[in-house]
Amino acid sequence: MAMRLIQASIVFASALLLASCGQSTETVSAKGPAQVNGARITNADSEPGLWMSVGRTYSEQRFSPLKQINDTNAAQLGLTWSFDLDTARGQEATPLVIDGVMYFSTAWSMVKALDAKTGRAIWQYDPKVPREYGVKVCCDVVNRGVAAWNGKVYVGTLDGRLIALDASNGQPVWSVQTTDTTKPYAITGAPRVAKGKVFIGNGGAEFGVRGYISAYDAESGDMVWRFYTVPNATGQPDNAASDKMLAEKAASTWGDGGLVLGGGGTVWDAIVYDPEFDLLYFGSGNASPWTQGYRGKIGDNLFLASIVAVKPDTGEYVWHYQEVPGDEWDFTSVQPIILADLPINGETRKVLLHAPKNGFFYVLDRATGELISADPFAPVTWASSVDIDTGRPVEHPDARYSRTGKPWRGTPGPQGAHNWNPMAFSPDTGLVYIPVNVLVSTYVQAATFGERAMGFNTGLDRGANATNGMAAVQATLDASSSHLLAWNPVTRKEAWRVEHPGPGNGGILATAGNLVLQGTFGGAFVVYRADTGEKLWSMPVQTSVIAAPMSYEIDGEQYVAVLVGTGGALGLTQGAASLKSGPVRNISRMLAFKLGGTATLPAPPPPVARAIDPPPLTATAAVVAEGSRLYAENCGVCHGAAGIANGIVPDLRSSPYLSDDGYFDIVLNGTLKERGMVSFAPMISREQAAAIRSYVISQAHDTRTVRSAGP
Ligand code: CA
Repeated sequence: MAMRLIQASIVFASALLLASCGQSTETVSAKGPAQVNGARITNADSEPGLWMSVGRTYSEQRFSPLKQINDTNAAQLGLTWSFDLDTARGQEATPLVIDGVMYFSTAWSMVKALDAKTGRAIWQYDPKVPREYGVKVCCDVVNRGVAAWNGKVYVGTLDGRLIALDASNGQPVWSVQTTDTTKPYAITGAPRVAKGKVFIGNGGAEFGVRGYISAYDAESGDMVWRFYTVPNATGQPDNAASDKMLAEKAASTWGDGGLVLGGGGTVWDAIVYDPEFDLLYFGSGNASPWTQGYRGKIGDNLFLASIVAVKPDTGEYVWHYQEVPGDEWDFTSVQPIILADLPINGETRKVLLHAPKNGFFYVLDRATGELISADPFAPVTWASSVDIDTGRPVEHPDARYSRTGKPWRGTPGPQGAHNWNPMAFSPDTGLVYIPVNVLVSTYVQAATFGERAMGFNTGLDRGANATNGMAAVQATLDASSSHLLAWNPVTRKEAWRVEHPGPGNGGILATAGNLVLQGTFGGAFVVYRADTGEKLWSMPVQTSVIAAPMSYEIDGEQYVAVLVGTGGALGLTQGAASLKSGPVRNISRMLAFKLGGTATLPAPPPPVARAIDPPPLTATAAVVAEGSRLYAENCGVCHGAAGIANGIVPDLRSSPYLSDDGYFDIVLNGTLKERGMVSFAPMISREQAAAIRSYVISQAHDTRTVRSAGP
């Protein structure tokens, strides 16, 4: 049920006011807010003060043509308003601003509409996602944005619903369940809208689901088509748009027994419409299970880790390019896609730019999918290069750990050289700005594999990165780094970089003011020169920034806005790595800046620090080792790898339940279910729960090792 703070009449009043200022069009006052259509998005450059789609334009360059704020005056930036959120989990969304109203999603798939000039709430909508659903997601209860079309705002919810809201009051117009609720599907990505259809995918490949993207009628919510990215394990057709291509191209690349789980290939982020070719491109995710050793016949496993182009009206396949044949490293290709026109070898090529997890920067011809270039944009050890003729990576033979039977320690790891945090492209500088992470990870195939009732099911020995306790944590810390990379996709070379203390930094906005804007995991919002990387301005914002900024204009003034609040895959699971940037708390807010802004942030509440004061460790080393493996399989996804949390969910090393029988009530009886901590009784026995507790106690005793070496 939506909570209306201010009645719709105020929205209409402000829309009329905007129209009188020449900011908007007659349709706004006549029909109400968020009157977005295909022509308006396609011609977004004629309304540069707006941000009508998650990447601003259909090209998703995340480039603002505004330049009132520029490289000569960025030092005068200041906060002009802030809006505190009613959630304290990871915030990943890029807001929209349409005709004076800002629309955005927050953690737990909630949606807000604010007056973009003042930050005053217009309406708020909460889809009431059951909190126990949090255990079905790999990477925090995040949401990366909404779409707008014809007076409606669309959000995908963590529990798999696609909901159309009336943009004037936040009331649901329609809601459809896009997933099988008996399976651990989740939506965290932003819907896209083109040609009267809403496109949405989902995630869950760590848990054993089968990936797909669907198109729904924007007015009625009726499903128009669905495209599955991997074959049906039954061998039967789905009566879906993908049937023909899965049978012709994909089925033989899996073979008998290859689809032991859903197969994966989930479409959990990038979906881009290209009006020039009338194509819809999307990225597909990693394999499920991760290791190919438990996927039967060795093959390419189409369409995992691929860019796929389909017709937006029907879902009919047009082309694909597979970036990672036979993925077994969690190398998703869902990372943000940018469309651009680039001068390559003396001609203008219409290209698709992509910097996926695997560490190679790809330039594809977007009409045909032809590979134009592929170069490492970060340290890469799993492959030395990409063969430009075959399009296939030249793999390091040891990287295929399921074939060698030996651990593979390499980079990038499952967090990727670049994850979901949006990159940006400036047509002025010709540079792509990428938030790069350098993280080393160890892959070991598990000794056994089978169906699991809940939790990760990757076929990996999930304890491989934790069994050596804090020594392994320290080694991972030492090997990690992060930077903002300016990459020239034509010369295929780095232009400049800015080093950050630790990984997990925010998405990027580029502007015509020769600016690049990025927030950091350490809690600063920073402006750089786009051509050189020179730092021009920064402001501490009390919490990590992982989302991307955007820009808009109202009444002749340019604003920059960014959603802040730590969390997400890296914030939640890699507590140790995130400590490199300095410990940060989640203080979730929308922030807006302009030249001469004089607002200040409320003083942060006093920190709530709990001492790490564990009871004596009485368990044997063997029990602790088993606890380590079980912790990694069942607990680390939320409470942090190696027992080190970022504070968004409790750090168990400081839990009062380490010496209290209430521990078993929580872990096995679900007494904290309403807070998201469901019972793990389907997965672990009381003896195993005790082993996990012994491991956490062991890590707590060992904590000084990593604390003393921290920043
Ligand atoms: Ca994954």
